Amino acid sequence: MGKPSISQDALQIFKLRHGERKLFSQALMPVRGAHGFRKLTYDYAATLDADQIVKKCVDNGFNAFGLVVKDTDGATVANTKVGWNPTGVDLVKLFQEACQRYNVFYTLSVTSMNDAYRGATHPETVSIHIKNGRHYKKGTPATHKEGEMRVDISEGKTLEDMRKLIPFLTEEKQTITGKARANRGSGYIPLTSFHCPRSEHVDYMVKLVAELARNYKADAIFADYIRYDGQYTDLCGCPRCRAAFAEKSPGKRIIWSKQWKDFREDTIAEYGRRFNAAVKEVDEKIVTGWFNLPAPKIFTRNRIAQNYSKLGAALDVTCPMVYPYLMGTADDGWRWRKFGDLALKFTNWTMGRRFHEYGNKPVLCITNSVECNAEEMLISCQAYDYGLGIALFKFAGTTEQQWAACKLYGEVLKGQKVGDPAPPDSIIRNILMQVYKEHPPKDIRYLRWKPTPVIKG
Ligand SMILES: [Zn+2]
Repeated sequence: MGKPSISQDALQIFKLRHGERKLFSQALMPVRGAHGFRKLTYDYAATLDADQIVKKCVDNGFNAFGLVVKDTDGATVANTKVGWNPTGVDLVKLFQEACQRYNVFYTLSVTSMNDAYRGATHPETVSIHIKNGRHYKKGTPATHKEGEMRVDISEGKTLEDMRKLIPFLTEEKQTITGKARANRGSGYIPLTSFHCPRSEHVDYMVKLVAELARNYKADAIFADYIRYDGQYTDLCGCPRCRAAFAEKSPGKRIIWSKQWKDFREDTIAEYGRRFNAAVKEVDEKIVTGWFNLPAPKIFTRNRIAQNYSKLGAALDVTCPMVYPYLMGTADDGWRWRKFGDLALKFTNWTMGRRFHEYGNKPVLCITNSVECNAEEMLISCQAYDYGLGIALFKFAGTTEQQWAACKLYGEVLKGQKVGDPAPPDSIIRNILMQVYKEHPPKDIRYLRWKPTPVIKG
């Protein structure tokens, strides 16, 4: 099976906004701290220098920038009347001004159904478990321990102070860290909540998105976490969902019937349409998008209810999240690189099989520049560029070696046009050999392309 590509026709919406240039985007998650993405901190956001950050991206080959306006914790780093902003800064405005100064394509990303703060302040909109589970009872809200982010106590503050600021923080602390993806954080554990996509949470989200579209000048606004909680198959069994389903498909079983799966997919797609309409009402030319978890249907249909065709039709662009080397990196040893390579193969296979389901639409993949090395980052950039370019996450945590690789890769993309295939292996190898002169790899044993030995004297 050949690699899929985006049609010229589908690229039109980007050409109108961004010309013939391929996109090369870096992203910032302002509440996740200065390293990696395993922390939750509101102190860090206030220290960010938007000009310096966007300039660094531009100096290193990027022509697009994505700001995570609202992460899974629920904070909205904008001047908002609708949402909650514990950081005290309007980062959306500061980054907008910086992007305008450097002529950078500006995307806002908004986490939708996963919202820890609203879980604490509006427990009535949290989705409801239908069955008993190991750690929960049927009929209880899907508020659980957060898997990724951990909280440190700010200087001069107590745990109690932190719990006032972060009302979804527990007293439980994780101290052991490991190399597996879920064990890399340490600190106090927050709770997280997935909300019912038929509840008032959706009205809250649509209002918030409309406010962002109206008050700022973004080139694109993307919906993240536009799905159910993938950890569980038994959501949402709230009275609203049960009644709506019984009316639509009388006598059909929840969880197991085809009709129930369709019902959940339609519920998510309906949110996608409302998200899109809220943006387009303000300005038709703002590009809307949705973050997609590329996986086989047994996961996307049964667990998260992301129907690629229905969501593809609801919004302008699909943004698959492809992070093979978050599964493991050569820097941690042979076994971890093997995991990463397998994840890359598996994702390539899934994308090849399911690409057509997105419809005749642009596809902009996002891959990771953190917790992997420069080679793994570039392999992903190449593998997942289907003609529009590539997005990376994230700014904080990208190593000097990777910045150097980005700079050269960005130069290559500048020489390309939208619709062109990704740069070939020979170019990727060349870039790496140049980068290694200044920034040698941590461990060359498991790399695909090993640096040529330097002959001295
Ligand atoms: Zn519900």
